[in-house]
Amino acid sequence: MSIEIIPPKERRPAVFLECEALRQFAEGSAASDARPALERVRAAGFMSIGIANRPDSYRGPEDHDDLAASYTRLRESLGLDEIRACWHDPAKFCLCRMPGFKLLIDAASDHWLALGESYLVGISHAAIAAGYGLSVPTILVADCTADEKPRPDVRASTLVEALEWIVERANRSVPAYAGLKTQTGG
Ligand SMILES: [Zn+2]
Repeated sequence: MSIEIIPPKERRPAVFLECEALRQFAEGSAASDARPALERVRAAGFMSIGIANRPDSYRGPEDHDDLAASYTRLRESLGLDEIRACWHDPAKFCLCRMPGFKLLIDAASDHWLALGESYLVGISHAAIAAGYGLSVPTILVADCTADEKPRPDVRASTLVEALEWIVERANRSVPAYAGLKTQTGG
């Protein structure tokens, strides 16, 4: 038996983006800023991966194709690398519905991602909790009350602001955790 150290350079970081945040962004007044901001994220070396829970409005298989098509449109309009969604009934147990983190683990496994160098941007506490569970630094693009747990590492008022903050840190080679509470568990 021998030990083989896997070279870290083979891994790449990702920015996980909650689809509901992207959807608001894509339809909002800042829509024209969306694609270039995401292009800068990818140019900085990140994969861009949309993540989604099955929406509350989903009634069953008859909605599947419409929802799948909406994910495809979102991915194409914003130039995302991919979108991963939980399709399961929220009333039944599954590992991928956020705050579960199987969507993230599967993406990491498929693409050889460096989760420790990645970020998660979301608007729900379920998404923030999924990132928290894997110690992926989290950015909440929304107002929330201070007693909601787990608290995000960062709050941003807009998605563009969040993405530019990530790119700016990456361009200065600041480690994803640097200066964030996730690092210390505080
Ligand atoms: Zn699921």
